[in-house]
Amino acid sequence: MAGPQKNDAKKPGSKSAPNAQEQEPDIEQVLFQGPLFDRECNLKANAKLVQVALVPVKQMISDALARRAHTIILEPREGRIAIRFVIDGVAFPAAAVPGQKGDAMVQMIKLLSGLDINDRRSAQSGGIKTEYEKIPYHLMVESAPVGDKVEKIRIKIDNRKIIRQKPQEIGFPDHLKAKIRHHTSERSGVILICGPPDTGVTTLATVALHCVDPYLYSVYNLADRNVRELINVADFKPEPGHDLEITFDRIIRREADVIYLNPLTSPQDTQTIFQYADRLSFVAEIPANNPAEAVRKLIEWIGIDEVIKNLRCIVTQKLIRKLCDDCKQAFRPNPLLLKQLGLPPETSVLYRAPLPPPPDDLKAQSVEELCVDCDGVPYHGRVAAFELFEMTDGMKETIVSNASPEAIRKQMIADGQTTLQKDAIRLVAEGKTSLEEIQRTFSPGEANKRPAKARPKPPSL
Ligand SMILES: [Zn+2]
Repeated sequence: MAGPQKNDAKKPGSKSAPNAQEQEPDIEQVLFQGPLFDRECNLKANAKLVQVALVPVKQMISDALARRAHTIILEPREGRIAIRFVIDGVAFPAAAVPGQKGDAMVQMIKLLSGLDINDRRSAQSGGIKTEYEKIPYHLMVESAPVGDKVEKIRIKIDNRKIIRQKPQEIGFPDHLKAKIRHHTSERSGVILICGPPDTGVTTLATVALHCVDPYLYSVYNLADRNVRELINVADFKPEPGHDLEITFDRIIRREADVIYLNPLTSPQDTQTIFQYADRLSFVAEIPANNPAEAVRKLIEWIGIDEVIKNLRCIVTQKLIRKLCDDCKQAFRPNPLLLKQLGLPPETSVLYRAPLPPPPDDLKAQSVEELCVDCDGVPYHGRVAAFELFEMTDGMKETIVSNASPEAIRKQMIADGQTTLQKDAIRLVAEGKTSLEEIQRTFSPGEANKRPAKARPKPPSL
């Protein structure tokens, strides 16, 4: 993408921009097309707010989209509203808007999402339908009070053109797809998907479901309607008043094989699901950061015996920044490094971020100048590393004797199961990311910190 004037444009609203430009922005602006979820927003009734805050909000969103942000955070800090853009999982400060204007922007976002702008004491959520450079986006907006009459806003940006439902659309490896197919092939067992919040767990669950061969098995969706349409999956509407058991009995009469469920949140429902898992195969999310945590939760809810009997596998993923294809540098890894990483000795090339020029060489191009595609970040987009916990015989023994996270991890490695770390090395071998990025992502507490070097230019708002 050319990303014209993305960096060099004098952005309206910046300190240096003359006032006249505020009326005539010279970068493409996002189009707001109304609130999502059948809500309404009355711009006319709030003309004063619109006059003050519509243009700055538009500029902020346009800027975020131009920079590929997937999340925008507005929060009060020292009398201002601090704005941060999260790009490929890393938060960058975008602007700090003084008091009243910042406050008006917060209210404007709520208004555009159809939220109640007079209510500043409760958490609210909604969304805005938008279009930018002919691409439709849904902005999912959450507001939360952080003090008296002060609120924090979180906007998640969903590109509606990018559909991620099938294994190949998220780079889900074939050998893991085959495992899911195997685990769903006998009309029995439970397959779970987990991960920390905001790491694409629902997308991963949809992908796991789409690993099932729809021509060989009949797949039903019992989950509340997803915003996105599932492919070759029939919706099954439970009759009002029917509990899970009656619904499962009805669905069994339809010769269903695989059922997609709402996330597991209650011990009672989970118990029923596991009891039916000798006649149906289930796919569902479970709120847990990792498979070991999910196993612990399941044991608490339904007991060790049921877990061992019917849990088949748990899938999770970690998003890792992808090296920029335009400026990544190839290097020949030494044999010792390959051995340490568990890569085949014949691996001839790995990639890393371009090294900054020596500081004393004034004529050398900086990394930023080298690459227009990433502005010297030098990562662009993200790829996922996957993990598949499987209930092998060895794992059953481990869980009975000691279901600690360490013991489970040890057994996964002993079984040769795919762990996040192992799959991340695959991404390095495929040239999609660097060892430095893997190290950064996996070191505790580091993942949320901003990388020390090479970051995008701060935008001007
Ligand atoms: Zn680049």
